[in-house]
Amino acid sequence: MPILRSGYGRTGVSLLPLLSNSRLNQVIMILLSLRKLLALGLILPAISIPAAQTNKVASAKKEDPQPVVIDAGAVGGPPSDAIVLFDGKDLSRFRGQRTPEPKWKIDGGILESTSPGGIFTKEEFGDCQLHVEFATPAVVKGEGQGRGNSGIYLMGRYEIQVLDSYKSKTYPNGQCGAFYGHNPPLVNVCRKPGEWQTYDIIFHAPKRLADGKVQEGSFTVMQNGVLIQDAVPVGEKQTAAAPIKDFAEKGPLYLQDHRNPVHFRNVWIRKLNTGSQTEK
Ligand code: MG
Repeated sequence: MPILRSGYGRTGVSLLPLLSNSRLNQVIMILLSLRKLLALGLILPAISIPAAQTNKVASAKKEDPQPVVIDAGAVGGPPSDAIVLFDGKDLSRFRGQRTPEPKWKIDGGILESTSPGGIFTKEEFGDCQLHVEFATPAVVKGEGQGRGNSGIYLMGRYEIQVLDSYKSKTYPNGQCGAFYGHNPPLVNVCRKPGEWQTYDIIFHAPKRLADGKVQEGSFTVMQNGVLIQDAVPVGEKQTAAAPIKDFAEKGPLYLQDHRNPVHFRNVWIRKLNTGSQTEK
């Protein structure tokens, strides 16, 4: 008979004496089968977050596909393979939420959220790296959710909150840097009202599997260079106020109008997992 050590777990209480020999053998066979499936990779792919990198190679030769060479550009500026969504000049890559043409003001290279309605990119994105700079109003008005509120919605569905949370409290999963309605930020690293702040967001979209189930994606967010969301799962459920509700694997980036004049500049995005991240 196969031998298993007794005394599992923290309690040190063995369950094995409660099992008959035939039942014990069944349990062992199931465990061995699970181990084989795990070794073959037949279980983990269905339950894990999608791999962030697609250019993994098993060997270690200099002839292997090399990472694509790009120009990093200026600090904070767009790398050479980024799509610049707003560079201070125009909103040609956006459409309005209420009107075909976006109505948000541009003054001195700075974009201001302007009622009524937010703005969508014309292009749709799935997995991506996004850089946004923002400043909540220097003249503080309102409280809580009414103070410097805007938002960065990936795929028009999942919001990383923009809010004046500098010495201003609201519910934690609705404060600045929150994955709104889901996860508060790890820390509050907000700068003062009117000061420029940065978001660098790595987003992996949820995927619909062949069996109809949804494989979770993830959010990783840096605010002002500090980690505030660490590979937080993103499921099918959208942010409560999301302008787009139905499931899709891509969608437009949406910047929210919440009737507070929030400023934006230097907005760029890189598509990820496009299959073009190595070259020979
Ligand atoms: Mg918001």
